[in-house]
Amino acid sequence: MNPSARSPRRATLLAVVLASTITLGACSAVDGDKPKPPAGASAKPDQDKSGKPAAHWSYEGAEGPDKWGDLGHGFGTCTTGREQSPIDLTPGTAQKKPAAITVDYKPAPVKLENNGHTIQANVPAGSRITVDGAPYELQQFHFHLPSEHTVQGKGTTMELHFVHKNAQGRLAVLGVLMEEKPGTSAFAALWKSLPDREGRTVQTAQAVDLNKLLPAQRAGYQYAGSLTTPPCSEGVKWTVLKETVAVSPDEAAAYRKLFPKSNRPVQPQHDREVLVSDPQS
Ligand SMILES: [Zn+2]
Repeated sequence: MNPSARSPRRATLLAVVLASTITLGACSAVDGDKPKPPAGASAKPDQDKSGKPAAHWSYEGAEGPDKWGDLGHGFGTCTTGREQSPIDLTPGTAQKKPAAITVDYKPAPVKLENNGHTIQANVPAGSRITVDGAPYELQQFHFHLPSEHTVQGKGTTMELHFVHKNAQGRLAVLGVLMEEKPGTSAFAALWKSLPDREGRTVQTAQAVDLNKLLPAQRAGYQYAGSLTTPPCSEGVKWTVLKETVAVSPDEAAAYRKLFPKSNRPVQPQHDREVLVSDPQS
């Protein structure tokens, strides 16, 4: 499954194979303890291995976010869940102490993949974050346009999600808000390799310094949430960093050409608290 998909048919086959073996999809790639989302990477009338129609979903129209819970395939949590993501981040007056988060990312070549919903970078083992001392291994990162989280009602141009999993299969996602800004961005090298068709993968020739994709300050909003794509599984530890990183207007436009809209709208907060960590943690 390398730079291979030369025909549409091949691309479709690849998409199905990839989706059914690696379980792709923004924020849904490593969810091992919930019903496995069937092939979600194609918008075509395929079938999954069990012969049931594959789970198609999208960001607009009849299979858009407000319908995800009705599409079957174990997506019910998208509608019935009480701890759904994204949310509008408005810190309350919570007295609870935020978790201490440390980031330990290693430079590494990544495999960029267009899975029909996002550009996802699959990373080799060795990068992790710790949340209150507990390690979560980085699995992949991917993008949304525009941002999914908003801060006091205001979104940004894009959002980057680093998805991590601990030994028990629990997920922790680090979200980085990307703000359009002229000039050279930290994403320039990655953008040279964006796979432009569903099912395509591109291995970067050079190692990518993942730390450069993060802002200098690591203070962030923390809350209990979910995957932002079907099956919307809950139990995800979210941290969205306060400081934004820059993405150039050309890069945003190039991404928009691939995926014009890929953000789930903000969900009700219900009785969840949003904690704010300080810059030192
Ligand atoms: Zn995501």
